[in-house]
Amino acid sequence: MQLYSNILGRFGVETTYVSPTDIAEWEKAVKPGRTRLFFLETPSNPLTQISDIAAIAAVAKRVGALLAVDNCFCSPALQRPIDFGADLVIHSATKYLDGQGRVLGGAVVGPKAIVMDGIFGFLRTAGPTLSPFNAWVILKGMETLQLRMQAQSQAALEVARWLEAHPKVERVYYPFLESHPQHALARRQQKAGGAIVSFVVKGGREPAWKVIDSTRLISITGNLGDTKTTITHPATTTHGRITPEARAAAGISEGLIRLAVGLESVEDLKRDLAHGLD
Ligand SMILES: *Cc1c(COP(=O)(O)O)cnc(C)c1O
Repeated sequence: MQLYSNILGRFGVETTYVSPTDIAEWEKAVKPGRTRLFFLETPSNPLTQISDIAAIAAVAKRVGALLAVDNCFCSPALQRPIDFGADLVIHSATKYLDGQGRVLGGAVVGPKAIVMDGIFGFLRTAGPTLSPFNAWVILKGMETLQLRMQAQSQAALEVARWLEAHPKVERVYYPFLESHPQHALARRQQKAGGAIVSFVVKGGREPAWKVIDSTRLISITGNLGDTKTTITHPATTTHGRITPEARAAAGISEGLIRLAVGLESVEDLKRDLAHGLD
């Protein structure tokens, strides 16, 4: 986490981290006259915590800040943050918009005044623009976005239920499981649960690595959003560079595994995960 605030700090931007689920923390963290932007991702990576977009948007509005939402896990097919009061929506097009792990890309969506005045000028002069080929691939990917998100969410829910019943699994994080702490909010805000299922295996790092290393069908990678199912050990990859204390505070344990469910047969996925679990 420090990693990111240091980069922003070089540009004179101060950041304060708050709980994605505790609205009172957002209110308390506001520095009157200085807080310009609220930023959240929902569902969060990798624990699929759900932020109440409408409630946080109301706080932002009251204090004169903008709310930006990273909508990467849901994509516009499952969640439309602007309908809940967000000002800006950010997508990693590398993930579900392309959907097949082929290109890098991104999108910032919002009112013309903000996007054209601030963001477009930065892109034009600083250079992080999309190449024509990548743009074409992403456009082709978006033709199947709705179908993929529905099918991958359905498969993810099935895998999540199966994992929850498995004796070697301690806990499963999936927004559309009844056991998820923000289950009701997720059902209000999202059309489906999304494709990301995180789970903790009993026994910590060794058994978690065994599950990951024993897969044959599932790809081991830090990426997500592919039609191929991918698997990651967050504590040593995506969240490997933050301190152990920051990791513990964020709830990312050594036994945690993040699965991004694709379009393979659910039975094949269960069999692949069972190699290491059993
Ligand atoms: C991958 C990811 C990003 C960053 O996207 P890139 O395309 O890799 O820059 C941002 N937010 C979430 C939730 C992601 O999973």
